[in-house]
Amino acid sequence: MERITNMIKSLKLFAALAMAASLICSCKGNPAIPQDKELESRVEKTLKGMSLEEKAGQMIQINITEVYDVSNRVFKEEGLDRIIRCHKVGSILNTFDGGCPDAATFAEVVKRIQEVSMEAIGIPCIYGLDMIHGASYYKDATLFPQEVNLGATFNPEFAGALGKAIGYETRAGMVAWVFSPVMDLCRNALWPRNWESFGEDPYLQTVMAATETLAIQGDDPNHIDAGHCGVSLKHYLGYGNPATGKDRTPAYIDHSTLKEKYFPPFKECIEAGAVSVMVNSASINGIPTHANGELLEGWLKEGLDWDGMVVTDWADINNLYTREHIAVDKKDALRLGINAGIDMVMETYDPEAADLICELVREGLVKQSRVDDAVRRILRLKYRLGLFDNPTWDVSGYEMGREEFKEASYRAAVESEVLLKNDGILPLAPGTKILVTGPNANSVRALNGGWTYTWQGVPDGEYYEGFNSIFSALAAKFPGTRYVPTVEYVQDYGRWEAETVHSFAPAVAAARSADVIFACIGENTYCETPGNISDLTLSANQRDMVKALASTGKPVVLVLNEGRARVLNDIEPLAGAVVDVILPGNYGGDALAALVSGEENFSGKLPFTYPKYVNSIHTYDYKVSENVATMDGAYNYDARMDVQWAFADGLSYTTFEYSNLKVSDPGFKAGDVLKVSVDVKNSGPVEGKESVILYSSDLVASLVPDVKRVRDFAKVSLKPGETKTVEFTVPAENLAFVGSDGKWTLEEGDFRLSCGGLSALIHCEETGSWR
Ligand code: BGC
Repeated sequence: MERITNMIKSLKLFAALAMAASLICSCKGNPAIPQDKELESRVEKTLKGMSLEEKAGQMIQINITEVYDVSNRVFKEEGLDRIIRCHKVGSILNTFDGGCPDAATFAEVVKRIQEVSMEAIGIPCIYGLDMIHGASYYKDATLFPQEVNLGATFNPEFAGALGKAIGYETRAGMVAWVFSPVMDLCRNALWPRNWESFGEDPYLQTVMAATETLAIQGDDPNHIDAGHCGVSLKHYLGYGNPATGKDRTPAYIDHSTLKEKYFPPFKECIEAGAVSVMVNSASINGIPTHANGELLEGWLKEGLDWDGMVVTDWADINNLYTREHIAVDKKDALRLGINAGIDMVMETYDPEAADLICELVREGLVKQSRVDDAVRRILRLKYRLGLFDNPTWDVSGYEMGREEFKEASYRAAVESEVLLKNDGILPLAPGTKILVTGPNANSVRALNGGWTYTWQGVPDGEYYEGFNSIFSALAAKFPGTRYVPTVEYVQDYGRWEAETVHSFAPAVAAARSADVIFACIGENTYCETPGNISDLTLSANQRDMVKALASTGKPVVLVLNEGRARVLNDIEPLAGAVVDVILPGNYGGDALAALVSGEENFSGKLPFTYPKYVNSIHTYDYKVSENVATMDGAYNYDARMDVQWAFADGLSYTTFEYSNLKVSDPGFKAGDVLKVSVDVKNSGPVEGKESVILYSSDLVASLVPDVKRVRDFAKVSLKPGETKTVEFTVPAENLAFVGSDGKWTLEEGDFRLSCGGLSALIHCEETGSWR
């Protein structure tokens, strides 16, 4: 942990300074990942010995089901012949559907694939897995809270701990490459993938994702060792804001916003050494990202001087003709994608796509040099991961579920559950009699969300043995706890939204003899497109249940357990307390019990804006004009913004007082570094942690400015009466915006810094702009 803490400290400073420096200068001649001469000469030597067919095969990635019968758990010899021996495919992905194996069993499968690959091609296969909140495709992995919860902790230590667990435990299954971290800025509450990333703010996303990247890969991207894996940052770029909120549908994001908000997290992770990137499945401004040469070759590879590898998302080359209609057939789609900068095609089922790549080269529609560049990047990745020297390795020494990881997962859950309302019911007195009900009350599955043992999350039962649901965790602390079913989720695969409704009468009767009602509501697990919804309102069954329980007059605590913020404005007033546990993982029930008993103190803050109305979706960095109540004269402008809970809302059992907000020099220009400090005092009765967040506002700008932006944050722990001085270092360039000419612009004029209710005016003395 100490190493991770130091790493984060230096990373945050590095991030801030590097962001500033690299905003100013172009990166040419300054590669994102320094070259290793010996590694490069091995790459060239291997490339030279390869035929066109072998090169095309390396560019294809196929689903495990094509070489392995996942139901009977035996290899398909004809599949191995077709995929590896004949088409020389370079990569396999995915877990076994329906239920996942332990790491050791996974390793046996990968071992055989590597043996066949080495024998047939002499090049190791690279196996890729979605390891999202831990090595989440192995039965014995340590699962953490989902990334959105880590965002709520505002504590990068946990992104580091998650990354460390992913890097280490994934290796135990003989896999060295993960499709993680997820870093889509989620700016549409309807989108079903909100929970996979760290929230809506670019800076929070940047710090968390870069910390996780470093922890997954280790310090040296050219020599990733047996305790670490290569990352695939996803999904590049602008995936988190589809106009309709439905997954994989078009986004319309202006270039300035793409560059100012969506690009920096990727840039920072690339500069921290990320070795590969996965592409956004959808389109931006009418161009499917898989065919967007400006974003792939331009911004990413050339712009950052980055020699890493770009992989498509699932079947997304095919989608260029089947779904997006910008290509006439698969060959045409391959042409568009590869020419735009795709290196590896997650084809999924059809290795014959490699034949089409060969045809494209022979016909001059894709240059041989582009294919060489793609294969060079693939080989480089395999060398970086040590796969040529060790295509297989001894996995017997890996220890799954180390105490260190479990402890970090529990602590992360504690720091991520957010207290949004408390009229004094919490903490509960010892011996409180609790009625627990609602569909999320007795489900460890729901605490975890998707990407849990399988893609959509396995049903409750076997996999979660030994972990507490909210009910069992509360019952362990408060012996008078009772669970009475009201609304329950159906466990079947593919029906995550379905609910079974029991008569509310027994729960209402039980409520009358309880001291407090815990109504545990939200969503069951889903992942990606199957999680699409058309109405953000919480299910009517669940709202009716809360209303019935509240009619008893007993105090109600709403526990929200959901992957996105479901609208509940009609039941919120019925509750005395609200806790949003979001998706806290296998230890989320225990964390909640410790928090509501007062054994632990709440310190989580929302990393997103919680909407109050389905047609009023906002982010915290809105434009001032979105929130103007009235204007002078007869015309009532009436653009009031009314959200249920704001970004960074989150209460504690103690109170914090801020004072002495100081800025080293209130006059600045580009190139300066602002030093800001503030005193934070725990003015309440118990120990607590506070996320101290520094915002800036550009008061007048030539493009309508955001009302405020996060510029730095720090989490401090304070005993009652204790005061700490928090210091921030903010490069002045970080206060710039991207103008309509595509340039970063820092304009002369006033800015306001704010922190914990205090503010200070600062003044930019000179306008500057840069690429
Ligand atoms: C998802 C990706 C994932 C890939 C491979 C896609 O459907 O969008 O996030 O990495 O599948 O499983």
